[in-house]
Amino acid sequence: MTRIVAIDAGHGINTPGKRTPSGEREWSFNTVVAQSIINHLKNYQGVKTVRLDDSTGKRDVPLRERTNKANKANADILISCHHNANTGRWGNWTGTETYHYPKSTQGNRLAKTIHPYVLKAYGLRDRGIKSANFHMLRESKMPAILIEGGFMDSNIDIKKLRNKKVLENAGRNIAEGIAKYLGLKKKPSKQTGKLYKVQIGAYKQKKNADAQARRAKDKGFDQYIVKEKGLYKVQIGAFSKKSNADQLATKAKKAGFDVYIEGATKSTSKSKPKIKTLKVGQKVKIKSSAKKYATGETIPSWVKKKTHTIQQVTTTKVLLKEIFSWVKKSDIK
Ligand SMILES: [Zn+2]
Repeated sequence: MTRIVAIDAGHGINTPGKRTPSGEREWSFNTVVAQSIINHLKNYQGVKTVRLDDSTGKRDVPLRERTNKANKANADILISCHHNANTGRWGNWTGTETYHYPKSTQGNRLAKTIHPYVLKAYGLRDRGIKSANFHMLRESKMPAILIEGGFMDSNIDIKKLRNKKVLENAGRNIAEGIAKYLGLKKKPSKQTGKLYKVQIGAYKQKKNADAQARRAKDKGFDQYIVKEKGLYKVQIGAFSKKSNADQLATKAKKAGFDVYIEGATKSTSKSKPKIKTLKVGQKVKIKSSAKKYATGETIPSWVKKKTHTIQQVTTTKVLLKEIFSWVKKSDIK
């Protein structure tokens, strides 16, 4: 059975009044948290999300429409993401609080589960779990909470709100709390088994990888950067099934990206024979494991300790100047 989570970023970008004393919009903070919850819930099995606000922020979806959507989708829970305001002028009030509908035991249980995760992400004062007769909590049929992450008009809290990492972290933590509440299991870990990684670029410089990731984002791809062997690789997906990786690769190619799938050809690099390039004049040593010269005589151990100069090279052996002996190429270090 698939569980459905209704996610709501409060207001719209142009909703009057919902802004910091500097003019930043509440929705622009709320949406980072909401989107991060959605992204992180993708790591869990058997769960779907329904977003209740306009994800572009342009339209302030009426509250009635939001709760209707959650009810119609038969959502199991509803999470509404907000940021608080006190006077609308800068002050030193601070803290995180989570609301549920008065006397809703399910809502209270949901709040109790999620609130500690929210607190941890913002690192602000704990203002506790509260109840209020808010539309989103009252008109939704499922357990619902409304989170006020911190105050938009707080000198203290605004530092957290302006840090995208804090907001994304809040979303990640909330997703974890949701998983706990609903008993969701994580999808098989990325470390186990072979994965077909769909990548659209590998860069020495992070800024180039960032730019490519942005292009992918603009075209609607999930994207993340993985650092491997000194390269920043832009990845748009990783799958245990090759057919799924191929499907995404085709989509990315159509969108104009050069795509390669990593993981599919893992073993080939290992089996390549080593080609030794030995040249006349080169200083070399003989491997300590070498036993006999190319001509059949035993190599004394003192010869193996010295450095020699190559005087002549054939396809299989080299002539070493100092000892005037032919040694097999495979015995040269
Ligand atoms: Zn709000």
